[in-house]
Amino acid sequence: MQKITREDCIQLDSQDTLADFRNEFNLPEHDIYMCGNSLGAMPKKAMAKVEQVMLDQWGTSLIKSWNIHGWFTLSQTIGDQLATTIGANAGEVVVTDATGINVFKVIAAALTLNPERKKIVMEGSNFPTDNYTAQGLVKLLGNKHEIVFAETEQGILDAIDDSVAVVCLTQVHYKSGRLLDMKSITEKTQQCGAISVWDLCHSGGALPVDLNGCNVDFAIGCTYKYYNGGPGSPAFVFCAKRHQGKALQPLTGWYSHAAPFAFEQDYRPADNINQMLSGTQGILSLAVSEIGIDITSRADMNEVRNKSLNLSDLFMQLVEQECAEFNFELITPKERARRGSQVAMSHENGYAIMQCLIAQGVMGDFRAPDTLRFGLTPLYLRFVDIWDAVAKLKDIMQQGTWQEAVYNQKHAVT
Ligand SMILES: *Cc1c(COP(=O)(O)O)cnc(C)c1O
Repeated sequence: MQKITREDCIQLDSQDTLADFRNEFNLPEHDIYMCGNSLGAMPKKAMAKVEQVMLDQWGTSLIKSWNIHGWFTLSQTIGDQLATTIGANAGEVVVTDATGINVFKVIAAALTLNPERKKIVMEGSNFPTDNYTAQGLVKLLGNKHEIVFAETEQGILDAIDDSVAVVCLTQVHYKSGRLLDMKSITEKTQQCGAISVWDLCHSGGALPVDLNGCNVDFAIGCTYKYYNGGPGSPAFVFCAKRHQGKALQPLTGWYSHAAPFAFEQDYRPADNINQMLSGTQGILSLAVSEIGIDITSRADMNEVRNKSLNLSDLFMQLVEQECAEFNFELITPKERARRGSQVAMSHENGYAIMQCLIAQGVMGDFRAPDTLRFGLTPLYLRFVDIWDAVAKLKDIMQQGTWQEAVYNQKHAVT
């Protein structure tokens, strides 16, 4: 195969139909940002949004803002916009609370649909908060349920049978970037009479998701990764229309009441998506998340997917071409249909190598014990960035720069 050159990458950028989206983001001039799968970049319009909400709304209209600036229904308004990016309908998604809290709500709601069954199938190596939260819920429910941890797509399929109540899986694995087949797993889940819950943290905004096309029951995901909603921006919850007002979640705050401003003594659930809410949202953070979600909803998800796969192909090919002698082991599946929008590699000195890379302007991250992660975000990464990142990796490996003591000190956030 012919060697890939930097000029080839510049050529690819010149043909990139998504190239203009990069101008909508504030990016550090000299760094290459490959952590968009952990904290998305800041949209330029986010600052103006903060000012608008602070000065024009809170600072001027005060409490009237709940009505005149749409604060009271903001979770639903932004949810409708996000719905278009995950194959959901208006009225099926709200943006609210943290992902972990929403995991609690949807698993609890799903369990009410299958009261006789006690098994919850999850992936043991999933991002821990989903599993920890499920364990907390099981404990709260009196330890009558059992969480069955499976690994690999086949292992997961094998674990789903007629005794299972709920199958809760993350579509793209946070560490390896492996993509599960949502359609076939949901099909098997429902053939067995179980309820499907999907975590879209690493797939929402990164690739086309078709929740209703796959007949998914519930889904959740965060907005601060590929949706560029801002640090700690609220997460989203999808509840299929058929379950609304029927499969109830237990955090029954007043926002999920049928008539919040009737201030009735007793709880009555809303019979629509509002049932997935609990209480008052942080309006600043919620309002800012809309900027990033709006950008994503304007992008063609098929183009995003195509560029994402081209970026990751290029990254893998360049590591093979330029860094073959340095013993990086690819963790992410090479097969296009089986991966999301990141490339992960393991190396015994992964932590120090990543610290050194970050110091030299290539921002990836590290996941214990030995994984280097590179998030590939098609809306603001260029092909030439991939070239430059791999060139930097080659340089620090050749020079041995990563061995300096400063790169071997552990930080709290890796
Ligand atoms: C990022 C991520 C989360 C984040 O949960 P928070 O409640 O926002 O801390 C949860 N689950 C998965 C699979 C993730 O990738």
